[in-house]
Amino acid sequence: MEEDDPLDMIELELDPPPLPSSAASGPTTSVISVSSTSPQPSTNRTESNHQFASATNSKASSVRTTRSTTPSSLQASAIPTVPTRSKISRNSPLRSIESVVQSNGIDKPFTTCYVYDERMLMHKEMDRFSDDHPEAPARISATFEKLKAEGLIARMKKIPVKEVGWEEVSLVHTRKLWEEVEGFAQFTEDDVFRTLDLYKAVSLYVVPETSLCARISCGGVIETALTVMDPMNSVRNAFAVVRPPGHHSEPQTPSGFCFFNNVAVAARVVQEKYGKIRTVIIDWDVHHGNGTQRAFYTDDSILYVSLHRYDNGSFYPGSPEGGMEWCGEGKGEGLNVNIPWNGIMGDSDYVIAFERVVMPILREFVPEIIFVSAGFDAARGDPLGGFDVTPAGYASILSLLCTLANGKVVVALEGGYNPPTVAECAAACTQTLLGDPPPMLSKLQPSISAEQTLYEVAKVQSKYWRLLVPGHKPPKDSFEGMTGSISELPEIISSHRREWLSEKYGMVPLPLSQTQLAKVYDGLVHTTMNVFRSIDTLVLFVHDIGNLSVEDSGPMGNVELPSSYLIDCSNEIINWSLDQSALGLGQGGECGVIDISLPLQYPISLKYGLAYSSPKVAKQSYKSLLQHVWDHVVEIGQAKNVVMIGHGVGCTALTSLISSSAVESRTKAVVQVYGMNEVLKIVDDPQKKTWYAESSYRLAPQSHPFFELTRKAANRIGKVNRSDESEPVMVLHRALGEIRSFVGERLHPSQSRDGYT
Ligand SMILES: [Zn+2]
Repeated sequence: MEEDDPLDMIELELDPPPLPSSAASGPTTSVISVSSTSPQPSTNRTESNHQFASATNSKASSVRTTRSTTPSSLQASAIPTVPTRSKISRNSPLRSIESVVQSNGIDKPFTTCYVYDERMLMHKEMDRFSDDHPEAPARISATFEKLKAEGLIARMKKIPVKEVGWEEVSLVHTRKLWEEVEGFAQFTEDDVFRTLDLYKAVSLYVVPETSLCARISCGGVIETALTVMDPMNSVRNAFAVVRPPGHHSEPQTPSGFCFFNNVAVAARVVQEKYGKIRTVIIDWDVHHGNGTQRAFYTDDSILYVSLHRYDNGSFYPGSPEGGMEWCGEGKGEGLNVNIPWNGIMGDSDYVIAFERVVMPILREFVPEIIFVSAGFDAARGDPLGGFDVTPAGYASILSLLCTLANGKVVVALEGGYNPPTVAECAAACTQTLLGDPPPMLSKLQPSISAEQTLYEVAKVQSKYWRLLVPGHKPPKDSFEGMTGSISELPEIISSHRREWLSEKYGMVPLPLSQTQLAKVYDGLVHTTMNVFRSIDTLVLFVHDIGNLSVEDSGPMGNVELPSSYLIDCSNEIINWSLDQSALGLGQGGECGVIDISLPLQYPISLKYGLAYSSPKVAKQSYKSLLQHVWDHVVEIGQAKNVVMIGHGVGCTALTSLISSSAVESRTKAVVQVYGMNEVLKIVDDPQKKTWYAESSYRLAPQSHPFFELTRKAANRIGKVNRSDESEPVMVLHRALGEIRSFVGERLHPSQSRDGYT
């Protein structure tokens, strides 16, 4: 049982919580009595409201049949006339605190409530098949035991669970989904076995008890939310210790251990009762809450914010919908915020994400209630998440949320698969809800990858939120009639580059015969005049357009010109490519260079202003360009050897060329110097892989997410050297010596041993 032994109980009879404002009555009295009788009759309303409601009921009216939709302030009968009871164990350290408070004659009404119901332990994968499913009952039982052991349960009001009914579920889900989940109750063991693979395919397991547990889990979150909203109740926030979780469950499809979307349904039930109040759902589960996003994607009253591991779309649930460019649609445009992490994140990254992106948005949205889809699978030690957030980290971000919405915060458990960790994180969050200060964090040191993601998210979202930095610049077509006076920065940089390459190296722009490519890359591909002659070595150098560092001059978004500059490492590469001795060519050797600048440093998908609609489109476009240059210049030319050098996004482009074309016979060396962009593996062809392993030298900044990958994942990609530099822009510069040695060795093995390196 979750309650303490009634014989070991001091029962405090408290008066009703004081009425708000002027309605509060005079001094109240309290009675302390020692109870040695049997437990109080349970107030748990286990009414079976899971019978299908009459199909003729409208959504709104049928909700009224299970939960009143009128604010209780308007209902005389809702004003509490029965004293609220609080049971505190004799052993509880709180007993003395409460006693002092009592003797001072001051009431201390509950400010935090919780739900927990042991029946939710019954949803359990059948032992016959496996007994180690991560979505295990211990997740909530360990959590409840921890809260009790820490004396936190005693400080919270227990809310009786009421199972959710179809009327409420229908606010988010289809009838088909409801019937499917209800149908599990009739499952025989054979049914369970027969449908095992079917449900496994969508990351679910089902047993006959699943239906009941899903109803309790969802109903539990609803009850806590209604308690938090109730103006006659002293409770201002809540922790729902529930399972199965909910945030992957889409309106029509359950998946990812989730059946009913608990938080989504609760948010809608609250809106049914209190009107379309501004509602925020913060989803810090390590997985993207695809279900919640789908449910409210076009809604103008519910702001969904998700922080999740993304790994460029490969992390579960593995759909592009977790990308930052998914901002909502129609009336909901601007009310969907995805913070998709690439790489391993910890406390610093989450706290900075809240301070730079989440909180500014929330302050502008001004929520009236905040739900937290609180998965603890981004916690240190979670077997599925692989992240590094500590209980103190969770408490810190929750404490920020508690400063908003009049403190109305409903925290509902989602994922989290290491029960002791879930329990610790839940305890830290509960303490925060109770008003205890969050534990101190060490000095914040966000990763470069996190800062990059936050910067990009802010850029995307600043179109909708004025408080975000960097601010959104109006698209250039908003300057009516001035088209002729506007030059885009990439154009300015590429014309500077054209002039420079021509003056210094005699290089010329390579005309692109394919119209589509010419449109995007005109003036960005340069070549020395000798590429079609029988030269010794041709260097194919693919890089981003340079690193433009600009300083804002103020809130209007203009640039502080004297403090802004362009770092273009490509010059150094071209310099030594054209230096015969550097390449070990000796007297009379001749070298040519094809230089390709790709127009974006970080190909992110913005809805405005940039050439690409998504990273996928950008990759495809780079691939077409490289393929074109290879087929029409390198293949036709007579260079004996080819050296490929990629820098930044150039690495992505070269990797796709290597994967799709037979480049091996002439290409003697491949050098890839990554920025913070993704390190890709080449195509699964054993021969090509062997050649690539021997012929390539790859280098990434110290802070690159690649170095956080598991050994298995890293092995699939192959060897990447770790630079001492953490600033991506410095990596190439620092590595010039190594690159030169490597290329020299590959081109002329014997000479390099004689000291060419
Ligand atoms: Zn999760």
